[in-house]
Amino acid sequence: MSNSGMTFQQISQIRNQLRCLGARPAHEQRILRLWSQAKPQNSGSRPLESFMPLALRQALPLLSENLSSLLRLQSSHPAEDGSVRWLLSLQDGQTVETVGLPRDGVCVSSQVGCAVGCVFCMTGKEGLIRQVGSAEIVAQVAFARLHRPVKKVVFMGMGEPAHNLDNVLEAIEVLGTVGNIGHKSLVFSTVGDARVFERLPLGLVKPALALSLHSTRADLRAELLPRAPKMSPEELVEAAEIYAQQTGYPIQYQWTLIQGVNDTEEEIEGIVRLLKGKYALMNMIPYNAVDDLPFKRPSWERAAEIARSLHMRGILTKLRNSAGQDVEGGCGQLRARQIKAEAGESQHSMSETPIHFVKAKPATVL
Ligand code: SF4
Repeated sequence: MSNSGMTFQQISQIRNQLRCLGARPAHEQRILRLWSQAKPQNSGSRPLESFMPLALRQALPLLSENLSSLLRLQSSHPAEDGSVRWLLSLQDGQTVETVGLPRDGVCVSSQVGCAVGCVFCMTGKEGLIRQVGSAEIVAQVAFARLHRPVKKVVFMGMGEPAHNLDNVLEAIEVLGTVGNIGHKSLVFSTVGDARVFERLPLGLVKPALALSLHSTRADLRAELLPRAPKMSPEELVEAAEIYAQQTGYPIQYQWTLIQGVNDTEEEIEGIVRLLKGKYALMNMIPYNAVDDLPFKRPSWERAAEIARSLHMRGILTKLRNSAGQDVEGGCGQLRARQIKAEAGESQHSMSETPIHFVKAKPATVL
């Protein structure tokens, strides 16, 4: 590369640079494959001189340096469940969280901050700071692969992937073609957005879809996810079901279970009404309590009772813990802690922000 200060936030920028150096499509794919799989650019038995133009060969060391400097490890937090949370800084000093999951998964961030503003999420508190570029997303996977095997990538870290669709879809295409991740093992997680349902079916790589539902009541959902698109739970499930039929993969509904908010009998009824007969899997994740937010985690017994009740009524349900609970596992907590430390705790505590709720209706007796 002629410009040693070159930064690549987007994969399209990397491709353009490579083309300027005489790369043909096969060279581009090779370079992206080795990078996304965390392998050195001189890997392989064939000498580079036998198939790569001189200008491109000469640029490879600097290109590798630029790619590996997309992210820098700020801190690492291994947890008892086998997961590890990494706080990574981007080239402009902003930070994102990436999580190595048990069983060869990695959870990546698609935005710094998030505009959806879910009231139970630390990331949502700061609003959107900036988009994470497609190269920065793939770099999170490459980083994770330096430390552990990765066979599954979930877009469930900081940010709403639907609000950064071009970058997320570009990253998905690379990961699902040269990145050695099965299409079904790429999980696009969203609060639901019409653009997602339009664009995902058109992609070369069609990821699995996780839909954050959290409530079957439109009014309560609007309180919990204040800036999510105004699609009703019924409309979301209908659009998601079409995608499930198109791809042949079930929709993974996400439900953060919060005590006294969405753990009611009324919600169980609502879930059965919406999902019965659908190609769906319900993932219930008891809320990870955070000091700065006024929500409580329900008891494991209550969560298990809800999951059992749904199962008995024909809804495939899995009760899960969020990864790394013992290391401030909630999305955005590491970044929030770092920002707080940098600010010398001078700001007001977020718990001082009043949060008003439409109260859950009294439980329906079955
Ligand atoms: S839970 Fe997800 S969509 Fe909601 S504010 Fe947090 S990062 Fe954004």
